[in-house]
Amino acid sequence: MMRLWFAVWMARLSGFISRLSGRGGSSLPGVIARKVDPQVLSKLVTRLPQGTVLVTGTNGKTTTVALTAFLLRSHGYRLVHNRAGANLILGLTATVVQAEKWRLFPRADLALLETDEASMPRAAQETHPKAIAVTNFFRDQLDRYGELSTTVDMVQRAIQQMGDGGQLILNADDPQVAYLGEGYPHVVYFGLGLKGSGRLPGVQDTVDARFCPRCGEPLHYQTRYYAHLGDYCCSGCGWRRPNPDWTVAGWDKEQNTLSIDHKGQHMRLPVAMPGIYNVYNQVAAIALAAQLGVEPSTMGESLSHFEPAFGRMESVMMRGHPVRLALVKNPVGFTQVLEAVADDTSYPKWALVIINDRYADGTDVSWLWDVDFESLAPTLGLEQWWVSGIRAFDMAVRLKYAGIADERVHVVRDPGAALEQMINQSPPETSVWVMPTYTALLEVRQYLTQHHFTRHFREG
Ligand SMILES: [Zn+2]
Repeated sequence: MMRLWFAVWMARLSGFISRLSGRGGSSLPGVIARKVDPQVLSKLVTRLPQGTVLVTGTNGKTTTVALTAFLLRSHGYRLVHNRAGANLILGLTATVVQAEKWRLFPRADLALLETDEASMPRAAQETHPKAIAVTNFFRDQLDRYGELSTTVDMVQRAIQQMGDGGQLILNADDPQVAYLGEGYPHVVYFGLGLKGSGRLPGVQDTVDARFCPRCGEPLHYQTRYYAHLGDYCCSGCGWRRPNPDWTVAGWDKEQNTLSIDHKGQHMRLPVAMPGIYNVYNQVAAIALAAQLGVEPSTMGESLSHFEPAFGRMESVMMRGHPVRLALVKNPVGFTQVLEAVADDTSYPKWALVIINDRYADGTDVSWLWDVDFESLAPTLGLEQWWVSGIRAFDMAVRLKYAGIADERVHVVRDPGAALEQMINQSPPETSVWVMPTYTALLEVRQYLTQHHFTRHFREG
């Protein structure tokens, strides 16, 4: 007990010091806690009355965890959950250790942990999860004759660690994920059942052959939503997509709602985030939250409040500058982001606002006039504003009307170029706030990935 107490306190102290020295979000607390007590993670999570749930997969972990956490909190759950990127064993340890406050009594009911696939066996061994959710597997090597790649193998080992008493929440539309449930006693599947939309507009139907995880013969797709996700069956052994327990049966893009079927019941829910990737993430979160006791009929109301909080949690270091990405897409959300900027006490602080007007952004940018820059601007402490995107000039005009001097506003249409120039010109350790609309956010992520600032930006 003394050892555990000491591990937690040393870790918390190191976390405090690293934050003081401006290196937030490090895994140092995890390193230190495990040095003092190698079993610290295990000891802490086994105190939680509801135990641990692990969420893994190539894409969508962060979003799925954020959505699930939101649903669980709306339901009264107290949670420990990790922020994007802290998903290796040290990050999990740091998360759990820092969630412990003054005493070692559990302050949370449940640990909901986004976990890197390669860390899954160890995480399962140490946390004894009661459930594992898997979003998808995107790896080239999966294409080869249905072999289990290392990644799939890692997750499979974690499931073995969990034992037969656990619960799996699996994507039925991804053959390799679905196959993890073969022979497992407790599986909940989620998937899409969108009629007549086998090839959604804008989705590249790349011809990547997929092979049956059971027998290695090619899979035949009746419907393919994107990449290898869809409704498939095997031409060799007849293995087919398991019937989802949670099916997205409709997606109304005008009303921005999803119809979800579950055991003969139909629900209509607001779309929490744009993009078909996020439809998968949302149904995964719904299935997982329901499994943890959240009444599905209450989820619609909760999800309608989800949007503004998203996108406030991503950060990455770029040549010594802490860069934060915060999605902006409506006046309420933008105002909340600007409040977060005002709360950031770093000095200096620069901003990059990227406004696109593609379909997913909303094609009408007049909402920028509903953001109260006039009263917010003096509170922000922003020295320089960079504006970018298809509607960069609209944003520049908006700032001008808010009384921000021309010489503090720089227009560079291309988001990558804007970010590059801004980082090059800013003084060392400038805190950078990037505020993109949805498709601009995708462009920024793509830029960061191409330039290998990737660790926190794998989500679609
Ligand atoms: Zn087969």
